[in-house]
Amino acid sequence: MLGKLILIVEDEPAIRQMIAFALRRSGFEIREAVDARQAREALANQRPDLILIDWMLPDTSGLELTRILKRDRHTCELPIIMLTARAEEGDKVTGLETGADDYVTKPFSPRELVARIHAVLRRAGAGGLDHIVEFEALKLDQQGQRITVSGQTVPLGPTEYRMLEFFMTHPERVFSRDQLLDRLWGGNVYVEERTIDVHVRRLRKSLEKFGVDRFVQTVRGSGYRFSAKAD
Ligand code: CA
Repeated sequence: MLGKLILIVEDEPAIRQMIAFALRRSGFEIREAVDARQAREALANQRPDLILIDWMLPDTSGLELTRILKRDRHTCELPIIMLTARAEEGDKVTGLETGADDYVTKPFSPRELVARIHAVLRRAGAGGLDHIVEFEALKLDQQGQRITVSGQTVPLGPTEYRMLEFFMTHPERVFSRDQLLDRLWGGNVYVEERTIDVHVRRLRKSLEKFGVDRFVQTVRGSGYRFSAKAD
């Protein structure tokens, strides 16, 4: 599985750190925000796979933030789990139809939280977030785990497939080798940065046979970018 990125929005440092620690240990990548403003900044920077939002936040409440995100067409598909302090708040979350995909009542065990996250991510995956992504003749079928060009399957190794899947679902953005390592290998410290270059080379070679290698672009001094535009 790719190292899924979770954004934690929680103002209490002790709880935020506890969650971050537990999720990292379960192989997730973490971004942290202490309030709605920071959360929106983080979202503008990098799209997470799921957001954990605490009900009690200093300025905009977690409930309000959830509503805002679910109304915005850029973020409405992002799965959200709300953290609530009391069972009554949890009842309100479900009752108010904020759009939160699930809620977890404090105190919760890290194991419970991780299980809920997996469940919501699975649901999100089955519910249409896994889809077909196309750039001209190049087509990614996430359900079938297949890449085709004009209907012909492009033979790819598992790492090259994961890399291209990541690129195609995060187009027009530059990723450093370090970021790619993080997202594709879950921050495994035993994988070196030049490994990225090796896999990019292999990926390009496979795509070259189908005339679509130009999509995978080197950004000098920065890293790599998948782009349908001219280099
Ligand atoms: Ca809080």
